[in-house]
Amino acid sequence: MKSKIKIIKARKMGFCFGVKAAIESCNKYIENIKNNEKIYILGMLVHNEYIVKEMENKGFITLNEEDILEDKIELNEKSVVIIRAHGTTKQIYENLARKNVIIEDGTCIFVKKIREKMIEEEEKENEIIFLGDKDHPEVKGIISFAKKVIIAKDFEELKALKIDPQKSYSLLCQTTLNKKKIKEMKTFLEKEHFNVIIYDRVCGATSERQEAVREIAEKVDLMLIVGGQKSSNTQKLYDISIQINPNTKFISDETELVSEWFHGVKKLGITAGASTPDIIIKKIENRIEEEF
Ligand code: SF4
Repeated sequence: MKSKIKIIKARKMGFCFGVKAAIESCNKYIENIKNNEKIYILGMLVHNEYIVKEMENKGFITLNEEDILEDKIELNEKSVVIIRAHGTTKQIYENLARKNVIIEDGTCIFVKKIREKMIEEEEKENEIIFLGDKDHPEVKGIISFAKKVIIAKDFEELKALKIDPQKSYSLLCQTTLNKKKIKEMKTFLEKEHFNVIIYDRVCGATSERQEAVREIAEKVDLMLIVGGQKSSNTQKLYDISIQINPNTKFISDETELVSEWFHGVKKLGITAGASTPDIIIKKIENRIEEEF
């Protein structure tokens, strides 16, 4: 059966620059794996199960921070550890350096820039406020380089902070925050706390994908947001879309499609987070084409 549903894809979706670079970092070591060398990846290379599994199928071994800190795996000067796109903590870098491990740093350039800016601002003796999810690996990694940091999860927590008018503050944020909300916070801070400067470092890939979902969400009967459940940037796409179009669904792959969603749907919008491979989108399109 050929579907009559018109599919509109967001003009920017799927793999970003940082994810492609992290995958490239791994691909450099395929030959080493073929020669029976052990090549490790720290954590989820990118926040997508499909990619993580694909790398494991190629022979990469996934490690986590505890494995390194608690010496559960023997690492030495011949071991290669690839750092995931979201980076890791200062403690891990130091631990790997002590063991003389070969570090292939897949940390995205945008994450590195935030880390550098934070260190620079702290050196100027500014208090650091970091806006983001303290449990997300990107945030854990960045803030581990600060001596002291105040964390706010969102606008509400930011408003509740006790800001000392005698001090200077620098506010940095996670790469995947909602660009529109950052603007609102900027306006608030300029009015209420002139001594807090926002360094908006939401990455270009994130903001482009957020704009692109805004463009199509209102034009379609159903909006599909595709990506890993742990992917922060995909979650933000979902949050934006559902505000515009209540008929928005968040799925990881084609197996999660539900036929009832498609009743009466003439136009369907699709977007995907920055770590979602094209093959997943293709499979979703094929299933819709064949079954709904
Ligand atoms: S979403 Fe942005 S910060 Fe994250 S990996 Fe991609 S380019 Fe880098």
